[in-house]
Order: sequence, then structure tokens, then C-alpha cells
Amino acid sequence: RPDGEGNLVTANEELTAQRDRARKDYEALVARGLKLDLTRGKPSPDQLDLALGLLELQGPPTAADGTDLRNYGGLNGLPELRAIFSEALQVPAGQLLAAGNSSLELMHDAVVFAMLSKVPGADRRWADEPEIAFLCPVPGYDRHYGICERYGITMIPVAMTPDGPDMDAVEGLVAENPAVKGIWCVPKYSNPDGVVYSDETVRRLAAMETAAPDFRIFWDNAYAVHHLADEPAEIADILALAAENGHADRVFVFGSTSKITFAGAGVAFFGSSPANVTWWLSHTVKRSIGPDKINQLRHVRFLKDAEGLRDHMAQHAAVIRPKFDLVDKILTAELGDSDLASWTSPAGGYFITLTVPEGCAKEVVAKAKAAGIALTPAGATHPYGDEPADRTIRIAPTYPDPAELQTAITGLATCVRLVATNKRLN
Ligand code: PLP
Repeated sequence: RPDGEGNLVTANEELTAQRDRARKDYEALVARGLKLDLTRGKPSPDQLDLALGLLELQGPPTAADGTDLRNYGGLNGLPELRAIFSEALQVPAGQLLAAGNSSLELMHDAVVFAMLSKVPGADRRWADEPEIAFLCPVPGYDRHYGICERYGITMIPVAMTPDGPDMDAVEGLVAENPAVKGIWCVPKYSNPDGVVYSDETVRRLAAMETAAPDFRIFWDNAYAVHHLADEPAEIADILALAAENGHADRVFVFGSTSKITFAGAGVAFFGSSPANVTWWLSHTVKRSIGPDKINQLRHVRFLKDAEGLRDHMAQHAAVIRPKFDLVDKILTAELGDSDLASWTSPAGGYFITLTVPEGCAKEVVAKAKAAGIALTPAGATHPYGDEPADRTIRIAPTYPDPAELQTAITGLATCVRLVATNKRLN
């Protein structure tokens, strides 16, 4: 088979030439002594400047009903602000609470409250269960995993599909194992792969039978209004669907303005069924006399209404969409005609997921680090920091300025070419 053999040699030669080119490019990259950071899924200073108006509170520090917001009280949060976010988070305003600045804090507290006192429908406190397990769609958000690790919750990975978590796997696991008490969901523009849950996925999550009577969906809608495409994604209303299916208390909804106004000084939200909200407040009333309502008022005066929120997010998109496009353009130019990597083109959210050949992600990240380009550690997108296939790299394009981003992504592509061609040749 002279032809076949001939082709094989040619392919190998081509790969070797590619590797040698990548080696040279990598040496040049290291010689530049860069210091760039692609780890930070946070707004750039330009984005934060969009909300500078927040710092000037116009008008008296009073709520619409005349309450003096400088004083104690108002545990549920400012009604006007809850009304603004009701539509985006798909929670009736009466069942939506406005709290401090961090939704992660609320997710943490939800777990701790469930550990220490029975959630509605529970036979006992989670702390009294022999084992608690959460389903973790992968790739996912490392801080969700951090909460589980902190409280000894077993994490069970479930594969993501373009429609959300693999629902056959989810339904099987929750039906057979009463230790499975929860699932982490980022239903819109998921972190990191930008998946939008399909209506069918949401319906199945709302309707499925669970062995645990106190199963909870942690619905972290962190990117509810963070659109990049012209057509905003819509997801089905999980609270309503759960109630329709006889599981009204199944869902805890979380969200925040961290990537809308100020990441360190925004407002976080908790929404759920009336019974869950009462349960939640019975705990938070012991912890605080009320949230920072002046900051909440600033948000009301700045955003004004749901329309104002949409307009504000359009300004964010105008700043960050070019950065996502730039990453896509560079990856296409550097890797597009190779089969060494694939990547997402999300319609919203904060991340691009770069998928490299199996067994290469850790080494790509290490090589990038040695060249002065910091990336999120490989494996961070999986429970216990361990991705058996070792192929997922999370890119956070929002923070660097375009010139830095260009250099960093070009450098990253060089690392991918080097590591992946080496792997193929060995
Ligand atoms: N949830 C997801 C999915 C996130 O990606 C992030 C931040 O990156 C957060 C929550 C953090 O939210 P917060 O700033 O409200 O604590």
C-alpha cells in the first residue's frame, strides 16, 4: 500500500513541521516576558464606569412608601428593586428578596441553613443525613464546588449537553439515590460553556421524581441579562413549572447585579416558593436587622425599571462583544484549520471554553504560565479540580484591554499548538 504509507509519512512530516514552528513561536513568546491575566471573570474598568452614576444618589433617602432607608429594617429588601428584577429572574416580586452584595454568599447560606434546620418537606436536617450529594453539571463553576467541599457534600458530575445537563443521567440519579439533595444549575449562558437550558430541560428538572423529599435545584441565574447576541435568550420559568408539577418548593433562585453594576458593591437576590421564602427569612432575621437599603435605592434610581436594566446591559454588550469576537477571530486564525482545538461562541455570559485534545489542558495552562499568561487552572471547571479527560480551558475575555487580550490569546494558541502537536507525535 505504497499510497497509504506515503500519506502517513506526509501527515507525520506535516505535524512535525507544525510542532517545530510552534516551538519557535513559543520560544519567542517566552522571550517577550509577558505578564497577562486571563483568569478573571470580572468586569473591566470600562464596564464598571458604566455604573458610575450609582455613586450619586439623587433625591431623598426614602422608599416609594416613605420609609427612611437610612434606618434599620426591611429584611426583604427594597420592594421597588425587587420589582425591577422580578422579570429578569422570573420570580414574582413578592417571592423575591434583595439582600447584600453577593449571590454566592446566599448560595452558601442556603446550604448552611439546610444543614442546620429542616427545609420545607425534609424529614431531617441535612447535617443529620448519613450522606449529602449534589449533582454538578460539568464543566461548571468552581465556587459551587467550593461550597460542597467545605460542607462535605459529595459531588457527582453530570455531563453538559448543548441543551443543559444530561437529563437522562440527572433523572436516573435523583430517582434512585435519596442522598442526592441538590443540583447546581447556571441555566442561562452557563459558566463556562455558555449553554442556555432548553425548555424541555427546564421542564424535566421541574417535573422529575426525586427519591429525596427535600431535593433542591440551586438555580444560579448569574447571567440572566448578560446577552451578547442581538436576540436575547429566554429560558422557561422554572418556579412556575415546578409548582405546576407539584414541586413548588423545589427551586432556590439566585442572581445579582455583580456584573451589571459593581462586582463588589451590587445587590444579590434570592427567590423561591412562599414556604421557602418564609423558611429563609426565619434564618436571616437572626443574622441581620436588614440589608443595605441605601445601596438598593441607588440601584433603583440608577436602573429605573426593567427597560432601564435592558438598556444598561446593552451598553455592557457594546463593550465586551468586541472582545469575544476578537478571541474568536484569533483562535480561528491560529487554530481554525487544525484539528487541535475547538471553542465556544457564546450568545451571552462571561466565558469562552476552549477544548484541547485529551490529556493536554494542564500542560497548555502550565506552558502559558511559564510564558507569563495566567489562565484558570485546568480542572477548575470540574468537582475536586479534577477533569479526567484534561481538555477544558476556561477563557475570561472581559477584563483585559483589547491589546492585552490579543497578545494573550495569540500566546495561548501557540501553547495549544505546541502541546497538542507534541502529544500527537508521542
Ligand atoms: N454564579 C456564577 C455562575 C458566577 O459565574 C459568578 C461569578 O463569576 C457568581 C455566581 C458570583 O456571583 P456574586 O458576585 O453575586 O457572588
